Amino acid sequence: MAKVLIIGAGGVGNVVAQKCAQVQSVFSEILLASRTREKCDAIASTITHPAFSTAQVDADQASEVAALIRDFQPDMVINVALPYQDLPIMDACLETGVHYLDTANYEPLHEAKFEYKWQWDYHDRYKQAGIMAVLGCGFDPGVTGVFTAYAQKHYFDEIHTLDIVDCNAGDHGQPFATNFNPEINIREITQRGRYYEQGRWIETEPLTVHRPIHYPEIGARESYLLYHEELESLVKHFPTLKSARFWMTFSENYINHLRVLENVGLTRIDTIEFEGQQIVPLKFLKAVLPEPSSLGENYEGKTSIGCHIQGIKNGRPRSYYIYNNCDHAATYREIGAQAISYTTGVPAMLGALLVLTGEWQGKGVFNVEQLNPDPFLEKLGEYGLPWHEQFDTVEQYIKSYSLV
Ligand code: NDP
Repeated sequence: MAKVLIIGAGGVGNVVAQKCAQVQSVFSEILLASRTREKCDAIASTITHPAFSTAQVDADQASEVAALIRDFQPDMVINVALPYQDLPIMDACLETGVHYLDTANYEPLHEAKFEYKWQWDYHDRYKQAGIMAVLGCGFDPGVTGVFTAYAQKHYFDEIHTLDIVDCNAGDHGQPFATNFNPEINIREITQRGRYYEQGRWIETEPLTVHRPIHYPEIGARESYLLYHEELESLVKHFPTLKSARFWMTFSENYINHLRVLENVGLTRIDTIEFEGQQIVPLKFLKAVLPEPSSLGENYEGKTSIGCHIQGIKNGRPRSYYIYNNCDHAATYREIGAQAISYTTGVPAMLGALLVLTGEWQGKGVFNVEQLNPDPFLEKLGEYGLPWHEQFDTVEQYIKSYSLV
């Protein structure tokens, strides 16, 4: 029986709140807090749980979060606000001695970095305080790290190549919308591509490297090489890796819209003056785009996210694929959310559950791949994200996935 404070009431916050509320034996008291309290109240009105409450908090202010923690006395904070709030929330947890979990790395406001260094710097202080921070416990980062750790633990002596492949074959019927927070999503996609090869990082122009990749039950989809934050931690924690890449599908329509928005300057993250006011063009763009949490209703199709891994076992080469497919309409029927929010929120709830039940233990700051993958994957299907695995010969692998 534990008390949890969830911060952030967007698409992902809704899923975390709904999923925690379904597991009352662990999450006996839940407080959902966000910048706009009405959004918390709207979520609360759809939830049946005997001890579910809401609050307003500006999580850019560590002191406000610490005051809320002192008042509610949670055992753990789940941060599903935006990456800008990671450090103030981590500070508040440190000050009050409460465990912390998030789904995205800290981002400075005016530069797209996607680096863990600021959060890794908290390790010694969390260790001294005897508390645990779990970083990046969504799907990617999150489940992709657990998949990699599971593969290494059970099937390989050494893993050599990792390709994380992320397909959204869904259609929400909007001409242009992002599936999670538009600001963070567009920052991620418009930055330079980067991948790891033979001990060094290689940069590419944004979205210039692409190829069709085959996804189970979906087929071939054009997939673009991007830099994604978990590459940094996975390369660090699996030193036998010689190559690590991240691929994501985009439709031609999406890429065209994005190019136009970029060309006219609307994806800029610096501050400009507009009619006497200081504005950030990307924040303005976010304000006119659909909210990710609003996309669920007519969303059709599936997501498919997994890890292709090659390496050696008993001196012989081996290829392995582990993945989850998730259906937008099914997640909407279950809890009123589209699959991108769902595939992020379920792992966040599950990571918190494992910390609160003692199955994940540690003092300090951890990425998910440093923790035991077994209890996580034992329960992931039960909470809504069944996963599958397959072994291929190297020849099959090359033929099916065109990843080599
Ligand atoms: P949304 O934009 O839908 O929701 C963000 C929420 O955070 C909103 O409720 C917003 O409040 C709140 N918020 C913003 N600033 C503050 C603040 N200063 N204090 C308190 N609350 C604040 O985003 P998503 O739900 O789509 O994404 C949430 C997080 O999940 C993001 O960090 C995103 O990067 C991450 N993510 C991770 C994925 C993964 O697989 N690892 C995949 C998808 C998302 P308001 O309504 O007032 O703006």
